[in-house]
Amino acid sequence: MSLSTPGFDTRAVHAGQAPDPLTGAVVPPIYQTSTFIQDDVNVLRAGHEYSRGSNPTRGGFEEQLCALEGGFKAYAFASGIAAEDALLRSVLRPGDHVVIGSDSYGGTNRLLRDVWGPWGITHTAVPAGDLDAVRAAIRRDATAVLWVETPSNPHLGIADLAGWAQVAHEAGCLFFVDNTFASPALQRPLEWGADAVVHSTTKYIGGHSDVLGGAVVLSDVEFQGKPLADAVAFAQFAAGAVAGPQDCFLAARGLKTLGLRVRQHSANALEVARFLEAKALAGDGVAEVFYPGLESHPDHRLAARQMSGGFGGVVSLRLAGGEAAARRFVTATELFGLSVSLGGVESLICLPTEMTHGPLRGTPREISADLVRLSVGIEDVADLIADLERALDVVAAEALGARVDVVRPGVGAAVTPARVQAPEAEAVEANTVAAPPAEARRESLPAPLAAVRAAVPAL
Ligand code: PLP
Repeated sequence: MSLSTPGFDTRAVHAGQAPDPLTGAVVPPIYQTSTFIQDDVNVLRAGHEYSRGSNPTRGGFEEQLCALEGGFKAYAFASGIAAEDALLRSVLRPGDHVVIGSDSYGGTNRLLRDVWGPWGITHTAVPAGDLDAVRAAIRRDATAVLWVETPSNPHLGIADLAGWAQVAHEAGCLFFVDNTFASPALQRPLEWGADAVVHSTTKYIGGHSDVLGGAVVLSDVEFQGKPLADAVAFAQFAAGAVAGPQDCFLAARGLKTLGLRVRQHSANALEVARFLEAKALAGDGVAEVFYPGLESHPDHRLAARQMSGGFGGVVSLRLAGGEAAARRFVTATELFGLSVSLGGVESLICLPTEMTHGPLRGTPREISADLVRLSVGIEDVADLIADLERALDVVAAEALGARVDVVRPGVGAAVTPARVQAPEAEAVEANTVAAPPAEARRESLPAPLAAVRAAVPAL
């Protein structure tokens, strides 16, 4: 690109994505090839020999992402976990120790504990908001890496990136940030002193829940006298967990609209969080809401300082009715699909303790069973809020003894409105409403069950 300082969205569309010089195709072709013809022995055209080492489609995506994170080099992998594994593999040796923010993706914890643990790597989890705890966890001569997620998964905690970077570098450690939740559209950790950023590109970067991928973006930091980027390039080539051309094409296509999508995800998530917070304040089914865009979030000001353009699309909440309510809530929505993952255009809902964060069960860091995580999509926010409100109504009605059948799109054969089953009455067609089991319960019905009241005249 020749513009000297192109903006974020311009780089998203153009960096690494120049039209095909041979045909003029506006979209660069997918180089679906494993190997490349050589003009003479080891005389390569455009530097490509074998697609595990390099591939033009992968290279284009890596350049595009690198330009958005403000990095020195980027490398694309088959999944986010493969990217994490390659980055750790590049720098860790048996006997090394990692300090990690305690609220982080369950799979990252599993990788450290169950894959790297047996190879002699230990780790300590610390509250990411407590820099003294981070400092205290560092072991002289053993700690090699500090690792944090911000916003974190699933509690949406915020870590002070500049603070972590300073603690890491004072101790001679490398500092890595999982930037999956924010994406470079909202936060660029390298600008705050991180040495490397990892992504599950499966999430906001791909953005459409149709591709699995991961990436590492590096600063020009040196490791053992050479660019750290060289070590990661070697791990990518030698261990081979590369992203395929088709997947890189999809990720690159998603990345072009990242700014647009993430602005919409963030705006929707803020409205959803405000709606849920109002419910919590009214004592109406919600116990607590986690979203850094809320002024009530303990680190809202820090988040506003180190993120720009929004606070991301993930919102978590605790249900007032505990585990049973959370379990019911996640199966009572119609638009929010019950699924792991996040960052796609469609809204998803999950129960982290049993789904994404299953690897933490039985450990001191087990996620509480009443916690629900929402990945807020780009649909009309009024529809999303109506869906959540209906689901809360279902939870409340069932707590009073009614039974509500919610037929969810894509689950079972039919796509129909929810059906309500009053215990002693005929089924009533309605949108997620329920009848109480007995007259006596009428008085105790929570106030905002307007939909229930409207659809069940007996109330
Ligand atoms: N990092 C975070 C924050 C994640 O949420 C995930 C997956 O959910 C990963 C990393 C792992 O990515 P992948 O599933 O693409 O391997």
